[in-house]
Amino acid sequence: MKISEVKSTTREQRITPHTHIKGLGLNEEGRAFQLADGFVGQTSAREACGIIVDMIKSKKMAGRALLLAGAPGTGKTAIALAIAQELGSKVPFCPMVGSEVYSSEVKKTEVLMENFRRAIGLRIKETKEVYEGEVTELSPEEIENPLGGYGKTLSQVIIGLKTVKGTKQLKLDPSIYESIQKERVTVGDVIYIEANTGAVKRVGRSDAYATEFDLEAEEYVPLPKGEVHKKKEVVQDVTLNDLDIANARPQASCYLLLLTLLKPKKTEITDKLRKEINKVVNKYIDQGIAELVPGVLFIDEVHLLDIECFTYLNKALESTLSPIVIFATNRGMCQVRGTEDIFAPHGIPVDLLDRILIIRTLPYTLEDVRAIVQIRAKTEGLTLSEDALNHLAESGIRTSLRYVIQLLTPASILARINGRENITLEDIKEVDDLFYDAKSSAKVLAEYQGLYKF
Ligand code: ATP
Repeated sequence: MKISEVKSTTREQRITPHTHIKGLGLNEEGRAFQLADGFVGQTSAREACGIIVDMIKSKKMAGRALLLAGAPGTGKTAIALAIAQELGSKVPFCPMVGSEVYSSEVKKTEVLMENFRRAIGLRIKETKEVYEGEVTELSPEEIENPLGGYGKTLSQVIIGLKTVKGTKQLKLDPSIYESIQKERVTVGDVIYIEANTGAVKRVGRSDAYATEFDLEAEEYVPLPKGEVHKKKEVVQDVTLNDLDIANARPQASCYLLLLTLLKPKKTEITDKLRKEINKVVNKYIDQGIAELVPGVLFIDEVHLLDIECFTYLNKALESTLSPIVIFATNRGMCQVRGTEDIFAPHGIPVDLLDRILIIRTLPYTLEDVRAIVQIRAKTEGLTLSEDALNHLAESGIRTSLRYVIQLLTPASILARINGRENITLEDIKEVDDLFYDAKSSAKVLAEYQGLYKF
């Protein structure tokens, strides 16, 4: 298996506004500290999530989903990220927004399916046979670059190879040179050469066991089959989506391809391919070669999905290869998209809602907002005067937490323009005058409707 070449395609997490969140901030008994791991307040929701984390870890969440419901800016996304952090970096976490399914090129269910598979991990354990060798000679050759000028390439690599029969000297076949160059190998380095694939890995410097050799032969000497003396256990974490991409090549059977995973290519991933991959994956799981690591798919603004997506999700959650799905919404009773007359709590059809555990996030107190703004300022390396902080906290209650957090950076720019490091009340008031929060903007729109285009 050449699984080590698969690069994870997991998308980068959109964590910038949440960098201060390091976890759920719970004690050993699962109780939430008022302030811990960057989290302030929202204690019931955090404790409930602690139980969910335990359920996920003990594999008791299968087929179920979680809904975080609460007003805008009450920390739903922050909580989902904290859950991901509690689960650890080896557990896949795939965030998406409901509106992402409406692409003009890809079917809605296809987008969901792809994200589902990004959130399902597979830990593959394998024992690889490797040769160990010491590089005794590396000869560069000057080559003419087709784009002009000259460059250097390898013309010869000689190694002292350790085998079960002792140490012998080999002149390596040029097919291995690319791998040698990629690893930046130099003379005196100890390398591993994978017996099956020929992939090279630099593992350290030499203990000078082969340097006395002097190879005269001009011929390439093949790696001596059956004389490998070393075995190496490797663990590789991939997602099902990584496997889909790596194997999305026409022709050839999936089983063979899974064994010889190649670099990702832009080819269509079909249902048939996914089914075949599932088959192989299930077989590997049965054989104990691979272990399933259900990750988290976080779907923010879930009310933006439509009835077709919900039907798909209902079914997908029942699959044995399903991640934990965490939904979030700030909507109450509303119309289910794609229907004429179905109204449901959070815009989610009741049959799906029925299998979801719901956690509420509550509005913040003045003290909570103040503490959160203070943490954000610290994270961004900003200092605030006491009255500036108090003003922001009060404004956060009237407008929104996100709005006041967003005022921090422009205020710091104003302070710097005025030759100060410290953000003062005047800076805050000035940026507050320059920008509008969502509520004030809506009020302006309502007042001056006639001036805007329809
Ligand atoms: P929306 O419904 O608009 O999507 P949301 O509930 O997902 O909002 P977040 O995006 O999680 O809200 O929160 C807004 C900002 O406030 C983020 O920067 C987040 O990290 C921070 N935040 C929210 N709640 C807390 C908290 N309890 N402790 C620390 N930071 C918080």
